[in-house]
Amino acid sequence: MKKELVVGTARAATRTVAKGAVPVGTRAGGGPIEIPLVVLNGADDGPLLWIDGAIHGDEHEGPLSIFRLMEQLDPTTVRGAVVGVPVVNVAAWEASTRGNPADLFTYDLNRIYPGRPDGHLTERIADAHHRTMIEHADLEVSIHSGGAHSYLAWAQFYNPTPEGIELAKAMGPQWDLLLKSFSDRGSPMAAMKAKGKPAITVELGGLGDTFPTRFRETGDALARAFLNIMRHYRMIDGTPQYAKRWMVGQQKTVILAPTSGFWLPVPDALRQRVTQDTLLARILTVHGDLAAEIRAPYDGIPFGMRTNPSVQLGDWCVFYGVIEEEITA
Ligand SMILES: [Zn+2]
Repeated sequence: MKKELVVGTARAATRTVAKGAVPVGTRAGGGPIEIPLVVLNGADDGPLLWIDGAIHGDEHEGPLSIFRLMEQLDPTTVRGAVVGVPVVNVAAWEASTRGNPADLFTYDLNRIYPGRPDGHLTERIADAHHRTMIEHADLEVSIHSGGAHSYLAWAQFYNPTPEGIELAKAMGPQWDLLLKSFSDRGSPMAAMKAKGKPAITVELGGLGDTFPTRFRETGDALARAFLNIMRHYRMIDGTPQYAKRWMVGQQKTVILAPTSGFWLPVPDALRQRVTQDTLLARILTVHGDLAAEIRAPYDGIPFGMRTNPSVQLGDWCVFYGVIEEEITA
C-alpha cells in the first residue's frame, strides 16, 4: 500500500502534490537557506523520478520544464512519484549567475558532489541536496543548458552502465546524441552512479534562446522528454517513443578562445557532424579584422556554441563531441 511521501519539509499524501524545501541554514538577514522542491506522490507503487534544475543559476530551462511537467501530471494516475527541484542553487539563480557570487571558494555546484556538511556554503548545499536525493531517488535527471554564454543542443551525458543507457534512451526521439560523462566525480549524476542508480545530465538551450516562443518550446520539449521517461518506466500510461538510432561518443573537449575579441560563429555549424578542420567560427578584432579562426580539431560534432559575442582569451567557445559508434537498439 502506498504511503505518505516525506521529502525535506514537503509531505505528500498518496495522490497529491506537496511543496516544501530541504533546509540548509540561515542567511545573514535571517531568511532561510534552503532548496525548494515539489513532491508528487502517485496512486500506486513505482519508481521515484528526481529532476534537478538550475544547479547552475544562469540556466533557466530546468525550472521552466519542471513547471511544465507538473502542470501535465495528474497525481491520481501516476505510478511512483516525481520530485522536482526547480532551483537547486537558489542564490546563484537569484543572481542569474553560474554559481553563488557570495561563495568564492566552491563556486561551481556541479563539480563538488557529494559536498561536505562542514564545508563552504555551496558544499553544504550540495551535501543537503545529495543526502536527500540519494535517500529517495531511483532515477535522476539534471537539466543544464548553455547558460549566459552559450547554446547547447539536444545532448545528454550518461553513465555507461546498462541502466544509465536505458534512462538516456528513454528521453525520446530527438535525444539521439549520447555522450559519456567527461568526469566520474562532482556532479549529481556521478553521485547517483556511485550508489548504483541511473542518472543523466541533459543539455538544451541557453540565455541566447529565451525569446518567449522559443523558451516555451524548449521547456515543452524537456517536459515531453520527462513524460516519455515516465511512459518508459510505466509511471504513466501511453507508448514511449525512441530515436531510431543514437550517436554514442564523448565530449572530448571544449574549445577555449585562443584570443579575445568579437565572437562570430559560422551559421549552421551547430550540431552537424563535421570533418577535421571545418570552419566553426571566427574571432574578429575590435576593428573588425580577423583575429582567429576556430576549426574542428578532429571529425566530430559541435553540440554547443558560444552565443555571447564578447569573448575573452580562454572563454568557452565550442562544446565538441566525438562519435565513437552508432547504435540502433
Ligand atoms: Zn550547467
